[in-house]
Amino acid sequence: MSDVRYKSVLFFGAPGTGKGTQGAILGRVPGFFHLSTGDMFRGLDKESDLGKEFLKYSTQGLLVPDEFTVRLWEQHMQELVDSGDFDPSIHLLILDGIPRTVQQAGMMDSRIEVLKVVHLSCSDDEQMVDRLIKRAKSSGRPDDAKEDVVRRRLEVYRAETKPVLDHYSSGLIAEVNAIGSPAQVLSNVLSVVAPIQAEHFANALA
Ligand code: ADP
Repeated sequence: MSDVRYKSVLFFGAPGTGKGTQGAILGRVPGFFHLSTGDMFRGLDKESDLGKEFLKYSTQGLLVPDEFTVRLWEQHMQELVDSGDFDPSIHLLILDGIPRTVQQAGMMDSRIEVLKVVHLSCSDDEQMVDRLIKRAKSSGRPDDAKEDVVRRRLEVYRAETKPVLDHYSSGLIAEVNAIGSPAQVLSNVLSVVAPIQAEHFANALA
């Protein structure tokens, strides 16, 4: 495994705040590479041991254990580097969904260089529950369909994921309002991320 630390922007926020939507849009902009650990897990064969392990937790609204998650993420990144899809010397990595616990953040310190943490925040839980339940109809995700599972995910976010913000220095954290139309939220996200890319380009050319 290479010992390059991937230059990364972390997308951080409760389920339903639009991390995945915004991350995927940004991932289309040249120079960025979007990686969602939810998508990574959902890409596992459901009949495989790993796929079954994932479903065991996600269908209950729980997080997959840290060791398993970080190991799978590392393997996945290595495959993307080997295939040439992700080039750490060019791309800024947008991490959507990881690290999601303080322990994961510690385990990943030697693997990523965090340039910014984009904290998509929404003070209205009911709006997020609503978005997720609506999304279930189109996404077919079992963890979105049941209201009690959605509420559990919000609780887990508050108890296990929110404390990850304290792992990073406050200067790295950008608060972004997640309420508004997708284009409005995108504009909020870009106002934080565009300067990071400009700086990255300037350094790469220097
Ligand atoms: P959302 O942000 O809407 O909850 P995701 O697609 O990011 O959805 O994740 C779906 C599920 O995948 C999570 O509920 C969890 O079970 C699992 N998962 C994703 N990322 C991680 C992670 N970093 N650590 C542990 N579990 C994860």
